[in-house]
This record gives sequence, C-alpha cells and structure tokens, in this order.
Amino acid sequence: MIEIKALVKSFDGFRALDGLDITVPRGAVYGLVGPNGAGKSTLIRHTVGIYRQDSGELLIDGEPVYENPKIKARIAYIPDEAAYFTQSTIKDMMRFYKSMYPGFDQERFEKLGQDFRLSLNRPLRKMSKGMQKQAAFWLALSCRPDYIVLDEPVDGLDPVMRRQVWSLLLGDVAERGSTVLVSSHNLRELEDVCDHVGIMNRGKMLLERSLSQLQDNMVKVQLALADGTELPEGLDILHRSVTGRLQQLILRGDAEEVTNKLSTVQPLFMDVLPLSLEEIFIYELGGAEHEIKDILV
Ligand code: ADP
Ligand code: MG
Repeated sequence: MIEIKALVKSFDGFRALDGLDITVPRGAVYGLVGPNGAGKSTLIRHTVGIYRQDSGELLIDGEPVYENPKIKARIAYIPDEAAYFTQSTIKDMMRFYKSMYPGFDQERFEKLGQDFRLSLNRPLRKMSKGMQKQAAFWLALSCRPDYIVLDEPVDGLDPVMRRQVWSLLLGDVAERGSTVLVSSHNLRELEDVCDHVGIMNRGKMLLERSLSQLQDNMVKVQLALADGTELPEGLDILHRSVTGRLQQLILRGDAEEVTNKLSTVQPLFMDVLPLSLEEIFIYELGGAEHEIKDILV
C-alpha cells in the first residue's frame, strides 16, 4: 500500500507538489490522471525514491522509500523517458536488473522474450522509442516486483503492443497481487485497465475514487415518456438532455434504485447505459461547465 499525505515539493520556489494526498491500496491498478505539468512525474519520482519531499509523508507498506533499498528492491519503475547507458543491450540490462532485484525471474524473462521479440544484443539506444519502452516492460515484468510504477507507459507504443503490455501487466496483478501505479495525461487511455483513479491538477489531488465506488454512485438512463407524463419526484439529476421524445439522464444513486423510481411513471421505453470514466468525473466534479472538462480531454 502506498500512502502519501500532504506531500510538498518545490523547484526554485515553484510548488510542483502542493500538499498532495494519495492512497494506492494493495493490489490496485491505480491511474494517476492529469494534464501536462500537473505534477504526475514529480509524484512518481517520489514514490520510487528518486526525489525526497520538502515536507509531508510518503510510506510504502509503512516505510519511507527514500534511501531505503529494501523497499526499492520491491518496486519496478518505467520512467517516461528511459535513459539507457551508452551501448548497453537488453542482455546487459538484464544482468543489471538481476543484481538489483532479488526477485528477478530468469525463466519469466526468457518466456517474455517470445512476446517482445527484441534483439538481446543490440544497443538499446539504437532501438526506436517504442522498442525501448517494450524493453523496459520486459525487464520490469521479469523482476516480479510487488509494485510496478509506470510514467506515461504507452506513449510511443502501437495499439497492438499497448494491448499486449496491458494484458501482461494485468496478468501479473491477477496472478501475484502486484500493485500498479500508472500515470497518463489521457483518462481514456487508463479507463479499461484501472480500478482506482486519481485526478490531479496543479500539484494537488482533485478527486480520488475506486471504480466500484464511482459506478455504484451514478447511473445513466435513456427513456421515453408518454405525452403529459413528468419525471417522478425525488431524483438526484446531475444532467438531462432531451432529443424529441427521448431523454438522457445522468443521476446520482444506484441503477436499481433509480430505475425502480423511474418505472413508477411507466416510461414507454427505458434503458440503462454505461457511463464512461470521463463522464463520471465530469459530473462528480460539478458538471460539464467545470474546468475539469479541460483537464480530462
Ligand atoms: P507532469 O508529469 O504531470 O506533466 P511534472 O511532474 O513533470 O508534471 O512537472 C510538474 C511541474 O514541475 C511543471 O511545472 C514542471 O515544469 C516542474 N518541474 C518538474 N521537474 C522539475 C525540475 N527538475 N526542475 C524544475 N521544475 C520542475
Ligand atoms: Mg510527466
């Protein structure tokens, strides 16, 4: 579990992290979403022990991370821009990771080689950005880490490779209960993979939710009412749009409770539609006019 409270980090007087709170439960796939400059990479560099905060608390399984090799050996990190040693190959990196991560799994490394199909002996800096990213995934997944921290991981990967790395990563989570913290400037990118999402902006956390919390709390309904029929009282409507006879409602509450209530006015037609994470956050944070809309898209 990663627990961060009131984290502050300034660069030359500029507060990149401004009292940030975040909790990543064990076994979660936590998506950290925010626009460029929000402070995502700065936060991630704290969680992997590269930066030390000015103030506030950062604990992983109850221990501070900075200068704590025991905790760091349990975390694999894929940075936004991997900087490889000159001339080093995947084989060199594999040896390096093996020396750093006691849990490094050689068998897993060899098996994953069939998925990634990269040359072991070619210098990494001569590979494309996408190939370097793949190499980073290959090595990270071979470490069998308890925590996998990824900064904008799918940038530069084609859709096929994206799907593949996500499925390998989620396989690890399912199989071993690893905890994943992954950042993106694009909520849609994380929508299908994360079970927890935190939205950050200007060094602060705006909203932190689990997917089940979100989905149990909001519902989108499409319905048509007979002429002269009104919606029943007592609904918490966050948004309503009408096209001819058809109405689309976004309401607070759980689906069963809401549809039961709507049924009392005997709609001609009624259907519950899936809500995207984007919609959930927009309405959760105060509607489509709120600045959150610009933050998420
Ligand atoms: P994100 O990853 O969300 O795009 P960053 O964490 O990279 O955001 O940056 C947050 C803010 O902190 C930005 O305004 C950035 O310019 C600033 N910043 C980040 N790292 C440094 C640094 N090493 N020195 C000075 N300013 C920095
Ligand atoms: Mg970044």
